Amino acid sequence: MDQPTSHPGQPGPEDQSVVCARCGARSPNGAPPTWTCSVENGIRQYFCVDCARANLRAIEGRLDSSWW
Ligand SMILES: [Zn+2]
Repeated sequence: MDQPTSHPGQPGPEDQSVVCARCGARSPNGAPPTWTCSVENGIRQYFCVDCARANLRAIEGRLDSSWW
């Protein structure tokens, strides 16, 4: 026990942390399976559950409005 390791078992926590591109919700342990990942302009963007639903509704709403 000579090494003063304060964070054992998790190498590079910053690598796996993802942030919701819409509301800014942060998930330190990587994107949960419930999150939505989309690639825009070569950049990965994650959306949390609420924002993903809101996004879908917004997209569907726009599609519907375009139909009128
Ligand atoms: Zn969000």
